[in-house]
Amino acid sequence: MTTAQHYPIGSPGQPWGAAEKSQWLTLQTRKRSYADDVLRRVDALRARFDVLEYGRIEYDGEVFPLLAIRSRAWRDELPCVLVTGGVHGYETSGVHGALEFVEQRAADYGGRVNLLVVPCVSPWAYERIHRWNAAAVDPNRSFRDNGGAPESAALIRLVAPLRERFLVHIDLHETTDTDETEFRPALAARDGKPFEPEGVPDGFYVVGDTEDPQPAFQQAIVAAVAKVTHIAPADAKSEIIGSPVVGHGIINYPLRELGLCAGVTQARYRTTTEVYPDSPRATPEQCNAAQVAAVRAAIDFALTH
Ligand SMILES: [Zn+2]
Repeated sequence: MTTAQHYPIGSPGQPWGAAEKSQWLTLQTRKRSYADDVLRRVDALRARFDVLEYGRIEYDGEVFPLLAIRSRAWRDELPCVLVTGGVHGYETSGVHGALEFVEQRAADYGGRVNLLVVPCVSPWAYERIHRWNAAAVDPNRSFRDNGGAPESAALIRLVAPLRERFLVHIDLHETTDTDETEFRPALAARDGKPFEPEGVPDGFYVVGDTEDPQPAFQQAIVAAVAKVTHIAPADAKSEIIGSPVVGHGIINYPLRELGLCAGVTQARYRTTTEVYPDSPRATPEQCNAAQVAAVRAAIDFALTH
């Protein structure tokens, strides 16, 4: 790699310090409104669901309330389902798909499961269309004790009392072209490592847990989403972003070892969705619908197995 190709902040081979992180921060601008896009939509759900503020994130005087939407008829004997979106704030269909699921489909599960839906775990990044929080930390590598992201710590505290009671946890994400052009180069620069391009898979895939992969569950989600949008093929090495493809549109990660959100509960069925919004064959509406289809398939599978 030549210097000219290096990320514009920091020096090749040198991890960022405070100066580089603050230089990065000055480049991040507010591009959309969490209040308009998320809080207002959650407010409209208060007539039918309980809404709980489970924490607040504050950066430089800006305050973001963290909201969770919960089944009103919560019954302790029912299994619990956790849906999370916006752990990566830029991954729009994760946020909007979670809200759309509650608005359009949550009622279908009344009396069958207790739903806990957190539509936007990382609101500062939602507004900046970024992957990291304001401290240049990735919340989705921070789901561990002292993980360093307040967004992740707040969610850990929210689910802790119910950790063993979840049957399903589905964490809604996207894989985007900007992963390869901006976010992965920024990560390499931040950590003082060379950037190795991986390519961007064209289509939807899921990430199961290496420790407990539940292939039939992952397959059921992929089959449901295939009716809405196309599924990512394996690359020439039979991989998707560097991981072996273990089934059509399925890879596994060691979720807890990596500090990923999908490992935050003891749910028997857990997964991460990866919608691809930059395909010429996928509209934003289709991406949201793919997330909704994934959530429904996950709950339906869990309830019948
Ligand atoms: Zn993500």
